Amino acid sequence: MYAPSCSPRLPARKLKLTSFWSTKSSSIKKTMKTIHSKFGGGRPLLSAEFYPPKTEEGARQLMTAAHALKSFDLDFVSITYGAGGSTRGLTCEYADLLANVFGFTVLPHLTCISHSKKEIESILEGLDSRGMKNIMSLRGDFPKGQTATERGPFQYASDLVRFIKGKYPEMCLGVGGYPETHPQAISIEKDIEYLRGKVAAGADFITTQLFFDNRYFFEFVTRCRSIGITVPIIAGIMIPCSLPQIESFSQLSKATIPQKLKESLSAASSESEALEVGTRWASTQINELLSHHVDGIHLYTLNRSAPAISILREIRRVG
Ligand SMILES: Cc1cc2nc3c(=O)[nH]c(=O)nc-3n(C[C@H](O)[C@H](O)[C@H](O)COP(=O)(O)OP(=O)(O)OC[C@H]3O[C@@H](n4cnc5c(N)ncnc54)[C@H](O)[C@@H]3O)c2cc1C
Repeated sequence: MYAPSCSPRLPARKLKLTSFWSTKSSSIKKTMKTIHSKFGGGRPLLSAEFYPPKTEEGARQLMTAAHALKSFDLDFVSITYGAGGSTRGLTCEYADLLANVFGFTVLPHLTCISHSKKEIESILEGLDSRGMKNIMSLRGDFPKGQTATERGPFQYASDLVRFIKGKYPEMCLGVGGYPETHPQAISIEKDIEYLRGKVAAGADFITTQLFFDNRYFFEFVTRCRSIGITVPIIAGIMIPCSLPQIESFSQLSKATIPQKLKESLSAASSESEALEVGTRWASTQINELLSHHVDGIHLYTLNRSAPAISILREIRRVG
């Protein structure tokens, strides 16, 4: 999941890839941990996702959220990548900030569909020189107006995974998984087979697209395990605090919105009431996932701290 309405539509910043990313040497180089080294400690991982804002107000909001979430001892935070590389510089800048200023283990996202091999090499050099040890490796979607014939050398996420592992074997790689099947998949079976291909290419863990009904996640995990996918699967959870917002995300991701959730959100008479509804829904989802020994919970924060904090407090109280 990422927040397409929040960043990629804004104008891209003109940044020179190599000069921008190779100027600073990183103080985190030795200390950043790989995410796969954190699994297996007898408890599920807990993480949060941010997107790179492009305005000062947005930057302030992200910093406030990062500061507030710092006290919850998250295992990692991720920072998304704009469609077609529209936020490439910002993704790296914020990855650096989240690591160096806030001390998080960071998972920068990278999509490959519109990039040349040279660009990907340059981006990887930049991330490596900044001490990043983890990359969320994605295909991405075509930028508006681009067609399949304009695809670059990386056709699928598995191509990117293979390429990164060839150059940086120590880099820990996450890939996307789709409990309700990827919207462009030929079939459920093929989609899961291709996911196995991403793991065979070197992916270390899977983070799922958002879902509001745990049944899809449980069935997805069963399908994965039944075809021999053994890497950890982290559940991607969005706190559903506004019906129009989740409807727009669901349109893109094809995540089903349960009728009961729709009704409860429609009945909320204020923002704070909707926040309560969303928090309750996500808490119930998370508690059920935890009782089924999920490998991890990844919160899609949309750079807002209040809903994420409510959830994290709830998890702490129960856990
Ligand atoms: C956790 C998560 C984080 C995300 N973060 C971002 C982000 O930061 N920026 C962004 O732009 N987007 C992001 N996305 C969205 C993602 O880029 C889109 O869903 C995209 O359409 C698919 O990316 P993928 O890496 O899953 O692609 P792939 O795994 O390549 O799959 C794409 C489609 O191709 C099919 N396929 C896969 N391999 C093959 C093959 N070998 N042969 C034939 N068909 C194949 C699959 O079934 C699927 O339908 C994220 C998604 C998730 C789940």
